[in-house]
Amino acid sequence: MMAVLQYVADLLFPRLCPVCGRALSVGERHVCALCMAELPRTGYHTIDFNPMEQLFAGKVPVERATGYFFYERGSRHAAILHAIKYHNQPQMGEWMGRQFAGEVAQSGFFGDVDAVVPVPMHRGKLARRGYNQSEYIARGISSVIGCPVEKVVKAVKGHDTQTHKGRHERLVNMQGVFAVASAEAIAGRHLLLVDDVVTTGATLLSCAEVLRQAAPDVRISIATLAVARLQ
Ligand SMILES: [Zn+2]
Repeated sequence: MMAVLQYVADLLFPRLCPVCGRALSVGERHVCALCMAELPRTGYHTIDFNPMEQLFAGKVPVERATGYFFYERGSRHAAILHAIKYHNQPQMGEWMGRQFAGEVAQSGFFGDVDAVVPVPMHRGKLARRGYNQSEYIARGISSVIGCPVEKVVKAVKGHDTQTHKGRHERLVNMQGVFAVASAEAIAGRHLLLVDDVVTTGATLLSCAEVLRQAAPDVRISIATLAVARLQ
């Protein structure tokens, strides 16, 4: 019955794949099967000391880090990230989080992770956008790996989108943005920090640093939906 309703709904209001623009079939969700097959996956979970782990090496101890797919401005699959971030489609983020975790889970990447922690969004930005896309991605991952989403990091100060800033400027800009709600809640645990995209790593680094400062024995892994190709 649900399939029939979906079929009728699709006739009236076609759901479109954000990548290729074609109408999704009844069995497809959010992104069409062909575009999912062509997603430029990083495969980082299979690579020891992969480029994303190298990004954090020597700055903050990170157990493992991976991202689902490569992001380049203007590339076909960038449309997925834009839909999730800017076009009010957070459910696509949750769905992508599930696909991501489903593909990575077999490798043992998530190992002994205790909780999934989304990178928080400051309340001003949250009010404007209406949702935190990283929280939805975290929910998707959480539903696959069976660990709860715990919002243990708070954004206590807004920060600029950073798109036009240099690397040093970004690092300085991140000072004092995040805070940990309760040190006891994270002590000795293995947390999976989740964000939508990693570029310089400044945001995730800042989050990881406040977690370590609050609880030096906390263990941190990182997963992002997209990995920006750095020039
Ligand atoms: Zn498509």
